[in-house]
Amino acid sequence: MTTLKSRLLSVCAACAVAVPITSFADVNVYSYRQSFLIEPIFTAFTEETGIKVNSVFAKNGLVERLQNEGRNSPADLLLTTDSGPLYQAVDLGLTQAISSDTLSQNIPAEFRDPSGHWFGLSSRARLIVASKDRVDASTIKDYEDLAKDEFKSQVCTRSGKHTYMVALSASIIAHHGLERATAWLSGVKNNLARKPQGNDRAQVKAIQQGECDIAIINSYYIGKMLADEEQIKWAESVNIIFPNQSNRGTHMNISGVSLTAGSPNRDEAIKLIEFMSSDKAQSIYAETNYEYPVKADVSWSDLVKSWGTFKTDSLPLAEIAKHRSDAVKMADIVGYD
Ligand code: FE
Repeated sequence: MTTLKSRLLSVCAACAVAVPITSFADVNVYSYRQSFLIEPIFTAFTEETGIKVNSVFAKNGLVERLQNEGRNSPADLLLTTDSGPLYQAVDLGLTQAISSDTLSQNIPAEFRDPSGHWFGLSSRARLIVASKDRVDASTIKDYEDLAKDEFKSQVCTRSGKHTYMVALSASIIAHHGLERATAWLSGVKNNLARKPQGNDRAQVKAIQQGECDIAIINSYYIGKMLADEEQIKWAESVNIIFPNQSNRGTHMNISGVSLTAGSPNRDEAIKLIEFMSSDKAQSIYAETNYEYPVKADVSWSDLVKSWGTFKTDSLPLAEIAKHRSDAVKMADIVGYD
């Protein structure tokens, strides 16, 4: 990884004086997002700007790594699969604010930090899915319905402390207050068919295999399962429900990015973030990973279009994030896991 700007020397032939030319530095990215998705975006960025991108991918521990490296970290950007690690990094003082007209124009206000420390780059709906064979999908309209007695022993989810579940619980707290949200989560827990386990796709597999009937998952996993020979039958066993259409709208989450506090290549890193919010990069998010572009005028993939348009919860993620620590405590209080 390059931490210093490399310099080239060229010779002015006419005047025969050595003229220093500063080349663009590389941008170094710590990424929780997988290579298959971000490499095409980085390649397009390098083609357009000549700036190289070096990335380190890991499923866990990148925020801790940034913290341990401190000001010596070569990382310019932290790229995440969810808003949780962004808040963690901001809370630890590992990020810095950016003010960019391009980012303000391309990314809706609810999907970025008001103080400029993080930016959403793609969004996804937290869907309810229900067995086509065993559940009348019209009986489930809202996340709140999952706590109703009629769905006893039918629901399965991943851990209540996973960042996707924490974000949803935090949004319920933001809308209903802690007391009602705790009663809701307790109701969902009482309806669980099994101990929370596995990832989002594992919940759909469990429905297909008859272990449970109703689950909560991120929207892009439907697309990923439909594109997988083994998993297609899982996806085809469920109906998709966009929750809360007659009230506040479906809970959305983001993948996103922060500029590190000590970014050695700040200007180039900001260029990369701006590029990731551009039409070109937003289309890659839409087509490669079945996500919703955050930039309003970028088309959804044909598959995602086929699920239809829907109302989204417009409460800013920064407001929802204020309730994250209560959401984690709430999972403990109700003994969710
Ligand atoms: Fe995911």
